[in-house]
Amino acid sequence: MANSTAAAADPLPHHPNFHPSFSPPSSPSQSSSSTPSSAAELITVLNPATADPLATISATPATTIAALVAHANEQFRQGAWARADASERFRVLARAGVLIRERMAELVDLEVKQTGRPVREMTAQLGRVGEWFDYFASLARTHQDDSTPFKGPVLNVLKCQPLGVCALITPWNHPVLIASKKLAAALAAGNVVILKPSELAPLSVLKLGEILREAGLPDGTLSIVNGYGRETGKFLCEAKGLAKIDLTGGLATYEAVAPTAARNLTGLTAELGGKAPVCIFQSVGAEKGVRAALFASFIAAGQTCVTGSRLLVHERIYDEFKEVLVRRVAALRVGHPRDEHTQVGALINDAAVQRCSSFIRKAEEEGDVILCGGKPTSVDGRGYFFEPTVVETQRKSFLSCHEVFGPVIALIRCKDEDDIVRTANDSAFALGASVWTDDFAQAHRVADKIDAGVVWVNGHHLNDPSSPWGGWKESGMGKENGVEAFESYTKVKSVVFNYGIEPSWFDEVGAGTRYG
Ligand code: NAD
Repeated sequence: MANSTAAAADPLPHHPNFHPSFSPPSSPSQSSSSTPSSAAELITVLNPATADPLATISATPATTIAALVAHANEQFRQGAWARADASERFRVLARAGVLIRERMAELVDLEVKQTGRPVREMTAQLGRVGEWFDYFASLARTHQDDSTPFKGPVLNVLKCQPLGVCALITPWNHPVLIASKKLAAALAAGNVVILKPSELAPLSVLKLGEILREAGLPDGTLSIVNGYGRETGKFLCEAKGLAKIDLTGGLATYEAVAPTAARNLTGLTAELGGKAPVCIFQSVGAEKGVRAALFASFIAAGQTCVTGSRLLVHERIYDEFKEVLVRRVAALRVGHPRDEHTQVGALINDAAVQRCSSFIRKAEEEGDVILCGGKPTSVDGRGYFFEPTVVETQRKSFLSCHEVFGPVIALIRCKDEDDIVRTANDSAFALGASVWTDDFAQAHRVADKIDAGVVWVNGHHLNDPSSPWGGWKESGMGKENGVEAFESYTKVKSVVFNYGIEPSWFDEVGAGTRYG
């Protein structure tokens, strides 16, 4: 377990929940105050690279969540943000983008410590997070109401209004990026937000709350609550008065959340897991194909939803590809995340290491070949690490069909283009996929045929606030990013102005009298 209950005398820094205008109801478990009232309310956040405790957070109880959701609805009704002029929303969110850039070092430091991801990766990722606030600030400012070609002397205006109180539930792997993707869209559209980051990596997200407050977001518009998913996350998703839940996480979490959302008629966006195929055709050659595969597969030690976890390689280059791949993977530098030279950092916790090991055992049972890696490891004798691993397998194997969320990658020989496409689509997941080819026509053909919400051609992991992001099938529903995400945080009101039809239905009988 990465998290455990801390001792009362724990000297660790405590990171309180963020809800500036809300005082939790007093009760024996008043866990949302700055100073928790009992050790039982504390969750310890660990540094996965060392297994050392980093900080404590408060586990937010059901009574506090219920009161907070009611408070958030009152804030929405009062309208300090929901009815703020678009130019004001632009000003605040654009300012948040500036402040995020100014606080980069602080955010990177927290992300590296709590996720175990290498400093090089987090610096690159967080270097772009301000763009999400820039982009959605601009959408807020430039979004125009539409009108329809309504028949007759009628003007039908479609007004996009904010939904209300939205619950954002985020995972630990890209804490600030994923929180920002959801927050920037939800706030740009004028909603009040309650965000629950992962209990494994909440510290940088709490910092983001302070940054938004400093940028001028009215108090009461954003709250950030901590706690375990099975408790605080569940209490939040089950609370009455939510207009939308936007979840990024695993399928099991979606399955826990969806029934209540359905019962309460709460809108649900779900960004779930993946088993991204990396389709490598002969025209790119083995050397470049391997560079593509390394990038697709081992960023974040394979702990991203779009990890290139199935390498589908055309048989004409397969043998050479395999030989180069194994050599390069074995040479990847696993190390301490703070070290600038580290290429592969830690896994999030011991459970993640155990999960990788169990995939290896299953692969061996099924007769797959472990080409390199395959074992837990450590850095300076500490932390949760796993060797970068390549397993030669086939498309129906357990490894090919299930998300590892770690650096254990399936390598599959494919005989031709049709075989690559069929194998790519032979999955319950359909989130990301990449196609590597120098053949222009093939690039179009294969991109069209692949089942995935995001298909990259000669790229992987490419992401932009303007580019819709989200999966199909068991990878989820709805989109982050782009106009789609902004609009998913609004509801359309159809306002019909009549400037010429008299209410004469019951006055006269005759052709041309119109009621609808
Ligand atoms: P997780 O599902 O365990 O947790 C995600 C969040 O949900 C956490 O905040 C957790 O506390 C909360 N949660 C857990 N159970 C809950 C419940 N019953 N009710 C309400 N909230 C609950 O996922 P994780 O381990 O944090 O992240 C890994 C998963 O997320 C992987 O499957 C990965 O593919 C997926 N993911 C998807 C995307 C995407 O864009 N599609 C991005 C990142 C991660």
